[in-house]
Amino acid sequence: MKKIGLSDKDQNQMRKMLSQKESNFIRLKRAKMGKHLFRKIKTIGVGAFGEVALVLKVDTHRLYAMKTLRKADVLKRNQVAHVKAERDILAEADNEWVVKLYYSFQDKDNLYFVMDYIPGGDLMSLLIKRGIFLEDLARFYIGELVCAIESVHKMGFIHRDIKPDNILIDRDGHIKLTDFGLCTGFRWTHNSKYYQRVGDHNRQDSIDPCLDNDIVCNCDDLKPLERRRRRQHLRCLAHSLVGTPNYIAPEVLSRTGYTQLCDWWSVGVILYEMLVGQPPFLANTPPETQSKVINWETTLKVPKQAKLSPEAKNLILGLCTHPEKRLGRNGAQEVKDHPYLQNLDFEGGLRKQQALYLPEIRHPTDTSNFDPIDPDKLRPSEPNESDLEWVNNEDQPLHAFFEFTFRRFFDSTPGGNSTDEKDSQHPVYV
Ligand code: ADP
Ligand code: MG
Repeated sequence: MKKIGLSDKDQNQMRKMLSQKESNFIRLKRAKMGKHLFRKIKTIGVGAFGEVALVLKVDTHRLYAMKTLRKADVLKRNQVAHVKAERDILAEADNEWVVKLYYSFQDKDNLYFVMDYIPGGDLMSLLIKRGIFLEDLARFYIGELVCAIESVHKMGFIHRDIKPDNILIDRDGHIKLTDFGLCTGFRWTHNSKYYQRVGDHNRQDSIDPCLDNDIVCNCDDLKPLERRRRRQHLRCLAHSLVGTPNYIAPEVLSRTGYTQLCDWWSVGVILYEMLVGQPPFLANTPPETQSKVINWETTLKVPKQAKLSPEAKNLILGLCTHPEKRLGRNGAQEVKDHPYLQNLDFEGGLRKQQALYLPEIRHPTDTSNFDPIDPDKLRPSEPNESDLEWVNNEDQPLHAFFEFTFRRFFDSTPGGNSTDEKDSQHPVYV
């Protein structure tokens, strides 16, 4: 303080401010996190391990999205390492393209992620609504997606599960990535002990549909010709336990070794789906889709009647190809430079520009941009008896979820970090 020439008075002021900040921090550290601190307003998404709900933090009256994962399911499906990775990535990312994590904590039965609530729905909901996107809108989302993936890669991670359900639309119409449950990287941020159930070298992936015989779709009276129903059917399949391999690169599915390039493949699949109206490897069951993806050289066809511009078609085929030829192998810039994306102002920053679609958000707790949840799909967050066996099983490492707790520290003292999303905040592990 002396060095920068602060007067005695200013030095005192600064000390006071820092001490206030420290005591806020200590108080936050002591506060026991629990679901009782939040009031559920509405369920907005159902996934493999639990649900995502819009919640209100009772003391501050702030809204968040809370993802609940049942420990028994996470253990049963051997996903402890992936869930830890998701926590680590969301906690570490201080990046406008990635949904911000504020708290993570656990109780006897569940793990909880408390994130920013992104009210514009996910890209899948918008695809369901519109069926098909005009090229301009598709270009806008693909441009943003390229930037978002670039930022994930820069952090040293590979998302591996880029798909429309995991792309959220914020109130200004810009995108944010979520669901890093399958994310992997050149750097594992967590300890290898979390793999001990199968051993370090035999990690079981959550994305092998063939391992899962319990993939069933509960969609009733499906009218095959109805686009909307068909998409709902797809989402239903996607929500079955292991998810859809529709967007996953062939080298990931065939386990021949993959790199960051697998995320660029998914971009090609999404562009195809936006412009053609259905994903390129559409099939009735995940194993059939998987086989179509692996045999993409014969199954990938851009239908003439979809009337894609030559640039769009060229970009799809440049992304959905062998990794050694795939666009993006020389970095994200190569994708940005593609003629299809030429009119986008990457330099000026896409998030600073007006989005082409603005979601309608009527009030702060409006969830109408998300698909309604089928009540039958909701499962209780309390485990049943067989689940409890999993949680209490002696073979399970008791520390499986050790160090899961996280709080994003911010304080609103003058000069401190404000709670404004745009201000920088310091992630803190306690
Ligand atoms: P899963 O691993 O089960 O796919 P996700 O994290 O993808 O879980 O969440 C499931 C769905 O919940 C998403 O597809 C999206 O519709 C919704 N969702 C997830 N996170 C948020 C969020 N932060 N804000 C708003 N909606 C969200
Ligand atoms: Mg998801």
